[in-house]
Amino acid sequence: MDPRFAPLFEPLKIGPVIAPNRFCMMPYANGHSHLMPNGAIGVRETRAEGGWGIIGMQLSEIDPTSDLSGLPYERLWDDGDVAVHARSVERIHRHGALASVELAHTGMRSRGIANGYPVMGPSSGPTLKPEFPYMAKAMDLADIRALRQSHRAAIRRAKQAGYDIAYVYAAHDASILWHFLSPAYNRRSDAYGGSFENRLRLLREVLEDAQDEAAGEIAVAIRFAVHEASGPKRIRFDGEGRDVVEALADLPDLWDVNISGWSRDSGTSRYDPEGFQEEFTRFVKQVTDKPVLGVGRFTSPDTMVSQIKRGVLDLIGSARASIADPFLPQKIREGQVDDIRECIGCNVCVSVENAGVVVRCTQNPTMSEEWRRGWHPERVPMAETAQSVLIVGGGPAGLEAALTLARAGHQVTVAEGATEMGGRVARESRIGNLSAWGRVTDYRLYQLQQMKNVDLFTESPMDAETVAEFAADHVLLATGSGWLRDGVGRSRLDPIPGFAGAALTPDDILNGARPGDSVVIYDDDHSYMANALAADLAARGHMVQIVTPMPVLGGWLGNTLEQPRMIAELLAAGVAMHPNTTATAWHQGALQVVRSDTGAALPAIPGKTLLAVTLRHPDTALSEALTARGVVHRLIGDAEAPGPIQAAVFSGHRHAREILGHEPAGGLFRRERPVLFD
Ligand code: ADP
Ligand code: SF4
Repeated sequence: MDPRFAPLFEPLKIGPVIAPNRFCMMPYANGHSHLMPNGAIGVRETRAEGGWGIIGMQLSEIDPTSDLSGLPYERLWDDGDVAVHARSVERIHRHGALASVELAHTGMRSRGIANGYPVMGPSSGPTLKPEFPYMAKAMDLADIRALRQSHRAAIRRAKQAGYDIAYVYAAHDASILWHFLSPAYNRRSDAYGGSFENRLRLLREVLEDAQDEAAGEIAVAIRFAVHEASGPKRIRFDGEGRDVVEALADLPDLWDVNISGWSRDSGTSRYDPEGFQEEFTRFVKQVTDKPVLGVGRFTSPDTMVSQIKRGVLDLIGSARASIADPFLPQKIREGQVDDIRECIGCNVCVSVENAGVVVRCTQNPTMSEEWRRGWHPERVPMAETAQSVLIVGGGPAGLEAALTLARAGHQVTVAEGATEMGGRVARESRIGNLSAWGRVTDYRLYQLQQMKNVDLFTESPMDAETVAEFAADHVLLATGSGWLRDGVGRSRLDPIPGFAGAALTPDDILNGARPGDSVVIYDDDHSYMANALAADLAARGHMVQIVTPMPVLGGWLGNTLEQPRMIAELLAAGVAMHPNTTATAWHQGALQVVRSDTGAALPAIPGKTLLAVTLRHPDTALSEALTARGVVHRLIGDAEAPGPIQAAVFSGHRHAREILGHEPAGGLFRRERPVLFD
C-alpha cells in the first residue's frame, strides 16, 4: 500500500465496536427494498468483500406509521422482520466488516395511503409530497410515547439481528425527528414545540432511549443534516444545525452528518465538486469528541485521506463510489489506485430509484446483478477455449464488451473508425460540466491497454468485407447511433416540416459545427443533451432559447435530482425557456409553435440556427450488410437500442456474458418470488 493512504486503514473505535478501516458504505436505497432481500444482500455482501469497513443497511422503517410503500426501503416493523436483517448482517460479517442499520420514522414523508394509518407530524400540515392530497396528523403525547417505543423496539431488534451500529435518523427532511426540530413544520405550543430546546426534545429523548436500549452492546449513531440547502431552509450549519450538534455532542457514539435535502446531498459532478459538503460539515469535529462520518461524492483516495488528515472527517462515507466500484478500498490497499472504476457523478443510480427499479450504474454494469445473475464486479470466469472476437466501435458498449471478453481470456480486437476511442462519451464529455463522464472511457481503455490479448485500433473504419475477411469467432457491432435531424422525437413520431433541411443536431455541434449567434434548441429528448448544450453555447456567447413540448424542461433530470440546478443554471446564463411549447414547423428562420396542452398558436420563435435535440437512430447499416452476406454478428449498445450511456455499458457487458455462456440464452435470471400462505 502507498503509505500516503495508511490513515484510511487505521481502525476506529465507535462506542463499543471497532471499525476495521475508514471506508463506510452509506445507507442508500439500492432499489431492492424488503421485497427482494436476496438481491439486496448480494449488493451489500459484495461491498463487504471489496473492503468497505462499515456496510450500511438502507433506511429501515420502524413501524407501520413510517410506511414508505412504493419506495424501495427496508422494514424492521416487528420480530418477523429480524431474520432477513440477520442474514444480511451475517453475510457482511463474513468479510470482516461492521453492519449498521439506519432506523427511521419518516414522519410527514410517510405514505399512510398504503395502510390507512394517518401520516404523523409534529403539527397538522401537508404531507411532504405536494401533489398528494393528504395531511399529517398532529401527534399527541400518546403518539409520541408510541414513537419512542417503536424506536426502542427497533434498536432491540437491530441487536437481535446482530448489527454493530444502529442509527437514529434525522436527516434529509425525511425524519419525524427532523420535522419536530424544524420551526417550519413544528408549530406546537407544548413541551415539544416553540423554543429550540423544546423542538430538540424528541430527538434527544429518542437518542437517550437508543443508548439505553443499546446498553453498550452496539454503537448508536445519529444521521443528522446540519444544513438545509433546499427545503424550508430553517436549519443552517451556522445556526440551529450547529446548535443541535453542540447540544447533543457526546450523546451518540458516532455523528454522521450531511446536508439536506436529498437533491443537494447527492449533488452530481455537473454541479458539485468532490468534497462539496466540507464547508457545511467541517465544524462538527470541533464541537464533539465522537467520531464524525460524512459524504461528498468522494472518489479519489487523495481527497479522502486529506479529509482525515485535516481533521474534517474520521470516516469516509460513500454511496456512489461504492456502487461504481465495490472494491475501491481493496484497490487502494493493494496499490491499485489506477484500477479504480471511478464514479462519474451522473446520478443514473438515483434516477432509477425514482423510477422504481433496482439500482443501475453507468460505470458498473454488475450493480444489482450480484445475486440474480451472479456477476462479480471484478472477476469474469475464464472461457474454456480462447476464441477471437472482433468488436466494431470503441464507444462505451464496445469497450465494455471488449473488457469483459478479454478478462475471460478471449483474443479481442476493437476497430474504431474515429481518431480516438470513446464514441459518444468522448464527444459528450467535451460539453461544459460533463468532463467527468470521460471516466467511462478512461477506466476501460486503461484496463484494455494492460492486456496482452487485446488489440485496439483507431482510424479503422470497417465495412462488411473487412469484417468478413477478419473471420472472427464472434463479431460484435457497437456502431452506435446518430441524432435525427427531421424533428421526429419522443412526443411527436413524424417529421416536422422544415427541420430536415435546416436543423443542426448534437452530432454536428459535437463534431465542430458552428451555430449562428442566436440558437433555438428544440428539445423533444428531455434528458441532459439539450440543456447541457444550451448552457455550453450560452457560455460561449450565443443567445440561446430552448423550447420543449413538455411542461418542464429536462424531465429526466427530475429523476437525477438535477432539474432545479439545471433551470437555475440556464436562467443565470440568460437562456430563454419555452416549456409546454410544441413545434409545428421551421419556417423563414423561426420556429412555428403551439401550446402543447390546448394546441393554441403561440408567437413564432426566431433564431439563426435551429438545433434539433429529439431522438437518436441506431446505426445498423453495417449490420444489414453483414446479414446480407450471412455473417453472424450481434448488435450491442446504442446500435441495438439507443439509451443512456449506462444502457450501452450494460448491453456491452450482457452480450459478452451471453457469449461466455453466463446468461441463460432466452432464459431468465434468478427471481425473487412472493411467498404463498395456506
Ligand atoms: P455505444 O454507446 O453503443 O458504445 P457510441 O455511439 O458511443 O455507441 O460509439 C459507437 C462508435 O462506433 C463510434 O465511435 C463510431 O465512430 C464507431 N463506428 C461506427 N461505425 C463504425 C465502423 N463501421 N467501423 C468502425 N467504427 C465504427
Ligand atoms: Fe456514479 Fe453514475 Fe454509477 Fe451513480 S450511476 S454510482 S453517479 S457512475
